[in-house]
Amino acid sequence: MPRPIQALIHTDALAHNLRVARAAAPDAKVWAVVKANAYGHGIERAYPGLQSADGFALLDLAEAERVRALGWRGPILLLEGCFEARDLELCSRLNLWHTVHTDEQIDWLATHKTTWPHRVFLKLNSGMNRLGFQPAAFRTAWMRLSGLTQVDEITLMTHFSDADGPRDVAHQMAAFEAACEGLPGERTLANSAATLRLAASRPEVRGDWVRPGIAVYGSSPDFPQHSIADWGLRPTQTLRSRLIAVQQLQAGASVGYGSTFTAASSMRIGVVACGYADGYPRHAPTGTPVLVDGVRTRLVGRVSMDMITVDLTPVPDAGCGSDVTLWGQGPHGTQLPIDEVARAAGTVGYELMCAVAPRVPVASAD
Ligand SMILES: *Cc1c(COP(=O)(O)O)cnc(C)c1O
Repeated sequence: MPRPIQALIHTDALAHNLRVARAAAPDAKVWAVVKANAYGHGIERAYPGLQSADGFALLDLAEAERVRALGWRGPILLLEGCFEARDLELCSRLNLWHTVHTDEQIDWLATHKTTWPHRVFLKLNSGMNRLGFQPAAFRTAWMRLSGLTQVDEITLMTHFSDADGPRDVAHQMAAFEAACEGLPGERTLANSAATLRLAASRPEVRGDWVRPGIAVYGSSPDFPQHSIADWGLRPTQTLRSRLIAVQQLQAGASVGYGSTFTAASSMRIGVVACGYADGYPRHAPTGTPVLVDGVRTRLVGRVSMDMITVDLTPVPDAGCGSDVTLWGQGPHGTQLPIDEVARAAGTVGYELMCAVAPRVPVASAD
């Protein structure tokens, strides 16, 4: 029998979450962001749940080829554009739309031989200071692009640094509106946080295309202010395993490497087949939530490579073989949102879902 750990991908939940994002941005088209192998879900596994998207956005050219290989004929957007001039050949061959955020990328286009002109997304650095032209250089870049026979439509694009928090997007919206004033073309600005929090009431944030990622994968973009339940989202990735041993501890006995947890009184401990080599966060402390047979309990002691240990006090009937949910959907309709585990471990749902290790077998749940 294989080790009992398994990851499940919930296709129905992906489709549901995509509908939630779409409903939050009425009349906008929706990019399903599938970078990082669909946030760790696997592009091929996630695809059946995401086919109602208007397009797929990602940044790795090999991933774009995989989406085309699945039969997708609609739009694909490279969020970081080309990394070198010859990437444009693949864009021409697979009809990929690509972001343009540097002068070099325009130089490459200017010498590219293509039979049909490309659709490009011109990116403004509106204040996040990662990718994009400075506002003062944006119009010049637009003029250069619009003068190229290699270029068809130009979409205006920016990315928000603070859509999930108190700083909000006003300063970046002002920069975007000023830089784009009078320029034709579609617009795209909103990630998950901006889509769920702002797009419904603010058409200028919504633009023509929204770009939700994390919300589609069942993690709240502004947790803990809002949980997935608040947004009506469902977990799309479950990491589950089983108890492979049980230990009875007497008061004063400790558990695991470094003896970081000591029992205050007699208690039962379950040993779970899941450790940091499976992608479970090593820094998850005592108290991190876990479900055993659908009952919420806590991790105790240090996470090791192949095992964690959990407090069985709330689940007296649990024993070897009992079902353990590390995050996602548990038995009998129970849930452990990935955001709660991430928060306990000092990280975000994005990191956990992307980090499920290759040794964990993956299956589709729906
Ligand atoms: C990753 C990414 C998104 C999606 O962000 P989420 O926070 O996951 O919704 C949108 N736009 C760009 C440019 C990205 O790189």
